[in-house]
Amino acid sequence: MKTALFPGSFDPFTRGHYDIVMRGRHIFDRIVISVGHNSKKNKRYFDIDWIVEKINTAFADEPHVEVEVYDELTAQLARKYDAKFLLRGLRNTTDFEYENSISQINKYLNEELETIFLITSPSLAPISSSIIREVHRYGGDVSPFLPYDL
Ligand code: ADP
Repeated sequence: MKTALFPGSFDPFTRGHYDIVMRGRHIFDRIVISVGHNSKKNKRYFDIDWIVEKINTAFADEPHVEVEVYDELTAQLARKYDAKFLLRGLRNTTDFEYENSISQINKYLNEELETIFLITSPSLAPISSSIIREVHRYGGDVSPFLPYDL
């Protein structure tokens, strides 16, 4: 049983994230979407319980996709789930710079953990949680970027 964690802030969970999970399903037997509290973005914009509910709705037909909120090191959480893989998405070189360091630190913290990166589908590359928050804050329609109804 190959389990991967898909860790992130998911504030909010977007169509870009959804695409990574659905493609990850071809690689892993089980994916645990792990909604964390990012230290840099302490204050969330979208309510965390609301996000969890929406993610559950989006994956209602996927019994091997789970969602969990966590507040600890990702490397530690992986041990709990017996997950040897972290799934992450890469949109551009900015993502790469960040992901490069974080995957190395995670490997240092948990030697058996490999981070697997999927390159974003081109049509979803411009979607980012931070831009969605800005559009939503000023009353714009963000529904085209989300895999569930607002
Ligand atoms: P974090 O706060 O840990 O960066 P995010 O919720 O912003 O978490 O993103 C989680 C993961 O999803 C990251 O690997 C990020 O690069 C990836 N990601 C975000 N948006 C997209 C997208 N549009 N397409 C593919 N991957 C994405």
